[in-house]
Amino acid sequence: MLLTIEGNQLVPSQEDPVSRYLTRLRGELMSVDAGEVASYIPELARADPRQFAIAIATTDGRVFAVGDASQLFTIQSVSKPFAYAHAFACHGRAAVLDKVGVEPTGEAFNSIVLDDAANQPYNPMVNAGAIAVSELFPGDTPKQRISAMRSALSRFAGRDLDLDESVYRSESETGHRNRAIAYLMRNSNMIGNEPEAVLEVYFRQCSMLVNCRDLAVMAASLANDGVNPLTGEAAMPAEFVQDVLSVMHSCGMYDYAGQWAYEVGIPAKSGVSGCVIAVIPGQIGIAIYSPRLDSYGNSVRGVMACRRISADFGLHAFCSRTGVESVLRHELNGLRIRSKRLRTPAERAILDRSGGAICIIEAQGRLYFGTAERLVHRIRKVAANATHVIVDFRHVQSADRAALCLLQGFSGVPENPNCQLIFSHILVNGPLANLRSVLAGTKGFSRPIQIFDGLDDALEHVEAEILYLHAPASEESMLTLQEIVLFQNLDTEELSLLSLSVAPKLTTFESGQIIIKKGELGKTFFVIVRGSASVELPSIGHGGRTVQIASVGRSLAFGHMALIEGRTRGAQVVAETELVCYAISVESLRTFGLEHPSIYAKILMNIISDLADTLHAANETIRALER
Ligand code: GLN
Repeated sequence: MLLTIEGNQLVPSQEDPVSRYLTRLRGELMSVDAGEVASYIPELARADPRQFAIAIATTDGRVFAVGDASQLFTIQSVSKPFAYAHAFACHGRAAVLDKVGVEPTGEAFNSIVLDDAANQPYNPMVNAGAIAVSELFPGDTPKQRISAMRSALSRFAGRDLDLDESVYRSESETGHRNRAIAYLMRNSNMIGNEPEAVLEVYFRQCSMLVNCRDLAVMAASLANDGVNPLTGEAAMPAEFVQDVLSVMHSCGMYDYAGQWAYEVGIPAKSGVSGCVIAVIPGQIGIAIYSPRLDSYGNSVRGVMACRRISADFGLHAFCSRTGVESVLRHELNGLRIRSKRLRTPAERAILDRSGGAICIIEAQGRLYFGTAERLVHRIRKVAANATHVIVDFRHVQSADRAALCLLQGFSGVPENPNCQLIFSHILVNGPLANLRSVLAGTKGFSRPIQIFDGLDDALEHVEAEILYLHAPASEESMLTLQEIVLFQNLDTEELSLLSLSVAPKLTTFESGQIIIKKGELGKTFFVIVRGSASVELPSIGHGGRTVQIASVGRSLAFGHMALIEGRTRGAQVVAETELVCYAISVESLRTFGLEHPSIYAKILMNIISDLADTLHAANETIRALER
């Protein structure tokens, strides 16, 4: 039956695509009956040669298993990478590398060869090296080391593993070749303890009982930076996973390792009981159990299944699977996208003239050498003709060490020294915090890089800079009625009639003060003399967030929808800075309107044309961002 495991529950498969694939693969390889079951001890010779299980465990803890996935067997040499991992965890890299090398032997797993020049066994994936590694389980007595071994392997499997006593006993009784290796190593001080004491740990380590599903989880723990994906427990420190996988890659399949690296290209390890594990870092652990072995001591079907999985899914280490160009998600300029800050017609005209020189690049995906290089290249290219380049990282998930290096390399770039480089969406507590600390204080071209939390903040800043250059803001002066956008196109006589009737009242607000509450009846509207205000929809329910609709500045009105609607306020308005406003009573303007309908019509027309412009710009922005 087809089963998948969710958490620790075995549930009938919903026929997901992975299980379907594994079932088909198993069916196809089932007829392969080449090879012989290991027979150096009777216990192994008793294995049923027809048995065949394949399991895949993902780094987020899903296990797909087909065939005889619950059948227990002894782990044998597949224990070697896990013992090696534990040695790193207990003693650190230098001590482990001192004890055993990382060089493939090109010889059988049980060959009696040692690296005399370095005075150490060649690598930890063949018996000699693995025996030396067994000595590194912490403890003063074999008993303590055995207990450390048992809990180390169990942590990788996510359950307490048992020992097969009878396999252990015959391994120990018949293991004269391993004994010869151990004595040779003792003779040259490659091991420090009595050979029998070391071998006891090694033989027991080979005799731990697992099933195919356990092995997939153990492999997935290696794929998952050392963390068991079922229990969430760290089975080994992440910093040593690469050490283990590298040696599995070059030495894991004994004297077939070179051919394996060429054909399959996945770090793997096999054991004489007929099991194989393979690890795709960051993605999955694969395990196969099928007892018939080839002349190298590798499971015949295990090798075939791995070959197929690697080819079918393009999993070979050197298969290029990254389209680096996808890092460039979208490019825009300042004509197509504006900040939420509402602008006067005069300001809009300036931005219409200069916005084309603002370039916005939206990056996406993960930044590593290839994608970061592509992005940097593009930034430099567009900078040649831009006043500002904003690079938005909203859709970027991570930046590795290579990306950090490349992205700080903008200083002194001669393309366009006047171009301002800006990054947005690199949040202090977000996944790119490492990038933020590297970029803050770095020069982009000739000016320091600026960092904003959001694209809108960055855009607003750039617009303000452009507006300041073209028309320095006369922030300090009072505002005449002519300057108020709502009253534009009124002649002097009309304006003086207006000022007599509506009597605007100068009012100030503190930064952060709520000026208009959503849902209230609007009796007043405001025109900003100094500062800015944010129009926003307050958060709804627990954990909701405030959504900003617009930001309003000098000579623009807010709250004036009360003039046309006469209904409750649709949004709240909060002072973004210290704010000086004219407050104008809705009632007084309406009354004025009844007496001077033609002037009132002009005012309403100003509102309508401003709304139309705003709507048009919003549509443009939405369209630009949709792509
Ligand atoms: N117990 C076996 C031995 O030491 C393990 C070897 C293997 O799985 N390749 O010979």
